[in-house]
Amino acid sequence: MTDYKTYLKTRHWQKTRAAAMKRANGKCQLCGSRQGLNVHHNSYNRRGRELAGDLIVLCDGCHDVFHEKLELAEKKESKNCYMVSPL
Ligand SMILES: [Zn+2]
Ligand SMILES: [Zn+2]
Repeated sequence: MTDYKTYLKTRHWQKTRAAAMKRANGKCQLCGSRQGLNVHHNSYNRRGRELAGDLIVLCDGCHDVFHEKLELAEKKESKNCYMVSPL
């Protein structure tokens, strides 16, 4: 199993990330911003064969809020995401 950083360099992830951005129309799925977008993994259970619902596109602001909530809820640090520039 490759580690996360290696995974982010795979063609599979490049395609998956691009597909997520396309589905979100290159906008934050919460507020519609086009600045500082991140593709965030909701789940790693299907890493390598993600479903659409496993990924969410968020801008920096919404992403921070999202992580705060996530970390409060799960009491753990989650850095399961990847910064991307808008397509
Ligand atoms: Zn946003
Ligand atoms: Zn994230």
